[in-house]
Amino acid sequence: MHSSILVSLLTSSLVLGAGLNTRQDEAWRTPPSNISQALNEVWAHEISTYSNPLGFKNYGYDQLIDAKGKIQVCMRWETTSTSITAAQRTAVEEAVGKMYNKWIAWLAGWDDFPYSSVPVTVVGWATSNTALLQGSTSGVDVYNTVDEGGIPQCDPRCGRFFHQDHNYSSCPGGSARHYDWSLWLTQGMSGGAGGDWGMRIGLEYMMQNLNSENIHILLHEMGHHFALDDFYDWTPTGMINFIMLAGSSTAITPFDGWMARDWWRHLKSRYNLSAATSTTKASSTSTSRASSSSTRSSSSSTRASSTTSGASSGQTLYGQCGGQGWTGPTTCAQGTCKYSNAWYSQCLN
Ligand SMILES: [Zn+2]
Repeated sequence: MHSSILVSLLTSSLVLGAGLNTRQDEAWRTPPSNISQALNEVWAHEISTYSNPLGFKNYGYDQLIDAKGKIQVCMRWETTSTSITAAQRTAVEEAVGKMYNKWIAWLAGWDDFPYSSVPVTVVGWATSNTALLQGSTSGVDVYNTVDEGGIPQCDPRCGRFFHQDHNYSSCPGGSARHYDWSLWLTQGMSGGAGGDWGMRIGLEYMMQNLNSENIHILLHEMGHHFALDDFYDWTPTGMINFIMLAGSSTAITPFDGWMARDWWRHLKSRYNLSAATSTTKASSTSTSRASSSSTRSSSSSTRASSTTSGASSGQTLYGQCGGQGWTGPTTCAQGTCKYSNAWYSQCLN
């Protein structure tokens, strides 16, 4: 039910001119006036329709903080006939990271959110037939475990959904091999589903859209991972096109971004943010980032090791590099800085 309707994105109300620093700061902390009413409506709706929305402890935000800003994903390859090459698996990993970071870009720099970009690593693949995973699978865990319905599922002993205390002592590879959520690709599926456990979308859809700038069904389902609702039976005042209104937008819009920010604003008091980042930030050198285009597999491992970028060496891939109120790096150590909307630009290949 996600048709491919083309949408004209907001051209936005960016005001250009001199001496706007203070106003830009205020704009950064306060939603634009055309958004704030709708944002309040959404929050009121969530409070009245969720059961105990602020008591739930496994939102995407919780997972990200517990994982100290580095996400590990396990893939569920639900097909008995379609194989996937090692290069395609790397492309899947990169696409998932790129889409995930489109959400992160809206949170980066917002209200003490501690990460400017988040490395996303695929640590495992679940399949009913190992032969479908062509080429080398070194570096990932291959699972033949299944769920209650007999569908390939990564080992629950290593999964965050099954261990929300973030204790993976029963995982054969220990915590280092755990996965925070799953991306479940199902052959023949249209539409998708998303939640704290991860996302489920069509296998063919994902593979055909690996190079798309916006894999919009995946972006929508990731929105659910970050606690955002569907809008099947109502729409907030003035909001017509946004990714969480299925079929109305192929990209995350400012309203989507502000809905995620609103959740963060309400949840952040539960976190110890001074401990939210790992202490190993000295190892990322600009030389290793600059040389990472030689092979795809080395660029993903480089990505995983570059948590924070010094302002002098430029922003990391997928990180924010511009936008209203942005005070971080405006150059990219990898990729080029591409305008996305008035509130953010992002380093992209
Ligand atoms: Zn939905």
